[in-house]
Amino acid sequence: SAHLELRQKEKLAVIGQMAAGIGHEIRNPLSSLKGFTQLQKERFPNTNDFYPIMIAEIDRINTIVNDLMYLGKPKDITFVKANIEEIIAYTLSITQQQTEKQAVTITTFMFGPIPPLDCDPHQLKQVFINLIKNAIESMPEGGEIKISVKVLDGKKMYISIQDEGCGIEEDSLPNLGEPFFTTKIDGTGLGLMVTNQIIKDHKGKINIESSPSKGTKVYVTLPVYQN
Ligand code: ADP
Ligand code: MG
Repeated sequence: SAHLELRQKEKLAVIGQMAAGIGHEIRNPLSSLKGFTQLQKERFPNTNDFYPIMIAEIDRINTIVNDLMYLGKPKDITFVKANIEEIIAYTLSITQQQTEKQAVTITTFMFGPIPPLDCDPHQLKQVFINLIKNAIESMPEGGEIKISVKVLDGKKMYISIQDEGCGIEEDSLPNLGEPFFTTKIDGTGLGLMVTNQIIKDHKGKINIESSPSKGTKVYVTLPVYQN
């Protein structure tokens, strides 16, 4: 079992600024490409079964561009009082299709009364989508994911996401959160980088503990809303 705190790199700032500029230029032509592809698909429903693939691939480029742009954007995070249960429920609704397809079950444990978070809920949803997707993707043969939430001192919320998946090789640990680091055939290697950045923007923490072939546990610490 290995342990580390995700590293935040100076070069991310430079990559982020570049990516934001390029991403901005790509987004408009991409959305018109998607619109016209959809239109063609409707016009010729029986002639070409490649349209769904084309649309899915355009969506994929869009996700990558959005992830990259997040890093270069000036952060106008709006902190509000938000309920972690709602954030998790939303995340599970997004990942539901994938869990059903892969025979993955997700159980959430709330330890004690859980106060609200001080956070930008949109961005935290992105964090949990990224982490839960990684957990699901680590278990192609199915398995269980356990999410637990607790608050110890009234100030910090501790959220962990544990899977029974492939785990992470010791050699890979230092690369986690590096842009484009992925061990997946169709991975982007951007999820943890964006996750890391959002958590940092919340003055939170993320740690990863993993044993190859046993599974991975991701710990996230976030600030509780103070009255
Ligand atoms: P991607 O999912 O596109 O590969 P991420 O930044 O989300 O990019 O993750 C980077 C890499 O970290 C993954 O390719 C994988 O090797 C490793 N990883 C992250 N989370 C897990 C997990 N829960 N189980 C196993 N490996 C993981
Ligand atoms: Mg990922």
